[in-house]
Amino acid sequence: MKEAMNRAQILVEALPYIREFSGKTIVIKYGGKAMVEEDLKRGIAEDIVLMRYVGIKPVIVHGGGEAITTVMKKFDKKPRFIKGNRVTDKETIEIVEMVLVGKINKEIVSLLSQFGGKAIVLGGKDGQLIIARKCKDKNLGLVGEIEHINSTLIDLLEKEGFISVVAPVGVSREGETLNINADIAAAEIAGSLKAEKLIFLTDVEGILEDPSDEKTLISSLTIEQTENMLRKEKIQRGMIAKVRACQIALKKGVSKVHIISGKISHSLLLEIFTDKGVGTQVIR
Ligand code: ADP
Ligand code: MG
Repeated sequence: MKEAMNRAQILVEALPYIREFSGKTIVIKYGGKAMVEEDLKRGIAEDIVLMRYVGIKPVIVHGGGEAITTVMKKFDKKPRFIKGNRVTDKETIEIVEMVLVGKINKEIVSLLSQFGGKAIVLGGKDGQLIIARKCKDKNLGLVGEIEHINSTLIDLLEKEGFISVVAPVGVSREGETLNINADIAAAEIAGSLKAEKLIFLTDVEGILEDPSDEKTLISSLTIEQTENMLRKEKIQRGMIAKVRACQIALKKGVSKVHIISGKISHSLLLEIFTDKGVGTQVIR
């Protein structure tokens, strides 16, 4: 009996959050382990489908670092990075596009369908979703900076009940395919959709004061505080782009951004539907 009461309590606790977020857009970026481990992948898919059924409009943007590196090695290509950005030549961009749009993206769509969600694969070329220009650093090759997001297609699909799953591949005005940072793509898309929230699922619990100590999790930061941490080089490697992405999204009108662990099962549900926030929230 007590257990039944506890269960009911959890559902009741969710009510104010369902009321608050029903009808609103929440963009979810996921990368790292959450994209590789079977149980985590299924858990995230369940959470997203549940969100959709209570009226939230989820949009997914995914990364693909590890999978791209694996396929590159199969073709005897050695991955190279400059400050966390993948050096991308002509052959590499073909691999990037194949892996992101053709493989990872389709796997996510298929998993969402298994749980009863309607989902669709979108690359940055579809409906000219991600227009980009070649980045200034010539050494990086075919890496793009986002110039414009055409989110019309996402809106249109949403009206028919589809969850868009976006691969971060951009296209230049000249039709060239460009590799785009997935964190920044998620932020620009969230900004363009005027999303209520942007949530990053990653391999750490959030932003840490000391990256080597998980006990130093910071639960809330303002844009200015993140800027100070960047200046003091307390934020490094992959977290730099994520923090920049938080800043972009907030400046474009997204109310709140969260960085949470994708390694804790159902962390998305905990973040959205319970009183107990998890991870780090970044606010204006
Ligand atoms: P994703 O695959 O989700 O994009 P990344 O590996 O690119 O993840 O970025 C997250 C990584 O950033 C963490 O796993 C951690 O190693 C690193 N990092 C650097 N500085 C920090 C910090 N201050 N707090 C948390 N993580 C940090
Ligand atoms: Mg990353």
